[in-house]
Amino acid sequence: MEQKIYLDNAATTPLSREVLAEMMPYFDTVYGNPSSIHSFGRDARAGVEQARERIAKAIGCRPSEIYFTSGATEANNWVIEGIASANKHKGNHIITSRLEHPSILEACKKLEKQGFRVTYLNADKNGFVRIDELLHYVCPDTILISVMAANNEIGTIQNLQAIAQTAKEKGVIFHTDAVQAIGAVNINVAEMGIDSLTLSGHKLNGPKGVGALYLRHGIAISKLIVGGEQENGLRGGTLNTPAIVGLGRAVELITRDIIINSKKLRMLRDYFINQVLTKIELTQLNGHAIQRLPNNANIAFGQVEGEAIMLMLDMQGIAVSTGSACSSNKLEQSHVLSAIGLPNDLINGSVRFSFSLSNTRQEVDYVVEKLIAVVKKLRDMSPIAKSQVGKGGNDECTTRK
Ligand SMILES: *Cc1c(COP(=O)(O)O)cnc(C)c1O
Repeated sequence: MEQKIYLDNAATTPLSREVLAEMMPYFDTVYGNPSSIHSFGRDARAGVEQARERIAKAIGCRPSEIYFTSGATEANNWVIEGIASANKHKGNHIITSRLEHPSILEACKKLEKQGFRVTYLNADKNGFVRIDELLHYVCPDTILISVMAANNEIGTIQNLQAIAQTAKEKGVIFHTDAVQAIGAVNINVAEMGIDSLTLSGHKLNGPKGVGALYLRHGIAISKLIVGGEQENGLRGGTLNTPAIVGLGRAVELITRDIIINSKKLRMLRDYFINQVLTKIELTQLNGHAIQRLPNNANIAFGQVEGEAIMLMLDMQGIAVSTGSACSSNKLEQSHVLSAIGLPNDLINGSVRFSFSLSNTRQEVDYVVEKLIAVVKKLRDMSPIAKSQVGKGGNDECTTRK
């Protein structure tokens, strides 16, 4: 029997049994429309409102400041476009970072076409946005600053409080995409001065297709979906009760044991990183060594394609991911690895391993063993590795033709 090992928890996570159990009644027994006035509706609404309270408690806001969406992509799109359009009388400048998830970046690109000006902050080599650079670009026209709490590829955890404080001092609305950070770092939006935050169910052992936006009272945002009075009239449509109930429980569970769980994950991850860096030549860790998500290891393998590693590990039942993909002969490089200034050959050789609490040391040993073999095989096969030993510099798409 082939062993299956899942090390792609930054892409999605399995639904926790506890969360599933809590969701179950809302699929059949508690089927009322949460907007209905009668007892069936009230029962469903109680589940939705409990979820709102649980999320509010976990991040330190009021339940009425939470809006449910179909996920973080929708919520991030909404924040960028909705805050920009509702505040355009104050200015047309937005600041974000080159590290953001495409749901932020693409929304910003859309705004640029509508006449907004967007500044994309650089990151240093560890993946940190610099406060002095942020200060340099803030101007009287700036209406929104959006910087993610922790990066999904390299795991770097931003100095969130410092960024939020800077935005506050300048009187600019501050949004953070906290999809990867929730459950890994403590976030209290009131204490930290965060005006807007997004999170997603399926990244924290909750269901897929559900997310939430926290938006501080008093911040103007335009309606996302018209035709329904749900979510304060801003996002119409009958609520997905089971998913919302699941999201609330998942957020409650993941934020309950952050310290102990992070410690366990960090130990497993650091064990893995040390094994890889000492046993495989020409490897380096991407992102900051310490201030990073406890379950994230992003490693650059010199003189080999990360995508080839991913495909060969997949053949052995091991799931990992790469930021760069060779699609139809065009190499699409990770914008994050490029933003931290990694050279092209190392960008193409990078692989992300993201752990969960159910991974074991035995699994790590097994993966390291397979990884050593896979990297050796690829390097032996590669004419580039042979001809360019000590030189590096492979920009070509050599793995799939
Ligand atoms: C996964 C992810 C998203 C998108 O979340 P969905 O709920 O899948 O739409 C946004 N931002 C970050 C940082 C993510 O990792």
